[in-house]
Amino acid sequence: MSSDPVRSLYVHVPFCAHKCEYCAFYSAPPGGDQVQRYVAALVRELELIAPECRPETIFFGGGTPSLLTLSQWERILEAMHRLGLAGAAEWTVECNPATVSADKARLLRSAGVSRISMGVQSFDDGLLERLGRIHTREQVYRSLDLLRGAGFTNLNVDLMFAIPGQTRDVWSRTVDEALHLGTEHLSCYEVIYEEDTPLYEQLKAGQFDVDEDLACAMYDLLVDRLAASGFRQYEIANFARDDAGAAIPSRACRHNVGYWRGRDSYGLGPSASEYVRGLRSRNWANTPLYCEHLERGRRAKEFAEALPPLARAGELAAFGLRMTSGWPYDEFRERTGFDLRKEFGGELAQLQSRGWGEDAGDSFRLTRQGLRFADAAGALMLRPEATAV
Ligand code: SF4
Repeated sequence: MSSDPVRSLYVHVPFCAHKCEYCAFYSAPPGGDQVQRYVAALVRELELIAPECRPETIFFGGGTPSLLTLSQWERILEAMHRLGLAGAAEWTVECNPATVSADKARLLRSAGVSRISMGVQSFDDGLLERLGRIHTREQVYRSLDLLRGAGFTNLNVDLMFAIPGQTRDVWSRTVDEALHLGTEHLSCYEVIYEEDTPLYEQLKAGQFDVDEDLACAMYDLLVDRLAASGFRQYEIANFARDDAGAAIPSRACRHNVGYWRGRDSYGLGPSASEYVRGLRSRNWANTPLYCEHLERGRRAKEFAEALPPLARAGELAAFGLRMTSGWPYDEFRERTGFDLRKEFGGELAQLQSRGWGEDAGDSFRLTRQGLRFADAAGALMLRPEATAV
């Protein structure tokens, strides 16, 4: 097994000012001294993994990382620099438009953060309220100006479609307005109904219906309009400007591409998952418990499991097919030790017969229709059987 340092680092910040109606991520409003305690625990966790990590990509997600105060950020950034964890080629921080300030933007940029991902979701204040978002349309413009002013040249905006009450026209205007912002990247997700969320409960109670045809029409509109505006789709929900003509656009999120291509990655913070040297594990999704473990000087693992090589190959086959470039056969063999065409030949044939997949000579990829059903396509490739350790 390779002893090279791990090149990818994810940090989960588990706080949000208010819980959105659709959200099943682990996060909660901060209370008491919980954020200070979390920051101290995170610094300890960074110290524990630092000897084996030299990240080329870093992603701070959540939760709402931009909710941390200037002095909390200073503490984390100082630790990252002290431990040799800063200086990644791509370092993304997720922000909420309501919590960006000029000082925070300047601090992050000067510490080496190179990319900001902004949770916008919609430009319609009524829909923002419907989703339980804390920001307004006006704050989106203000925060993007602050970020550009601080020197950020790589910005992403997250949007959401098929929101209950959202018409095709409203979505069409949202896409146009997002294009008008001039960001380098757009991530566009269909609303999903996760159990234990208010939106799911409202659906179950019959307060609205899901209109699959409308969702498909919205997705088609998105893909076509972005393609006509200089964006290249490189994954089901991800589109980036392209100025180099490479197989994966130059402004693609390299951190996420690494994940879909099966790169080892540390995951720090409550609820974060990681895959390192054949072991998949997850931290407890419980901030006080997470802090307690780190205060005792150990990582806060809920479980760790070793994946048999074929199970890992199946998982990677599913991840990689989310990308429009699919899996180059050679790369899949290099990454997993298995031949995609031999080991998964039956599944690839099934995908082709459904019109969901195609052999592109040196790679296998999903068709436009297949991308729409990528979760079901990916499920075909899975080979279970992990071993708890
Ligand atoms: S801001 Fe993001 S992480 Fe927080 S509740 Fe809303 S969707 Fe979830």
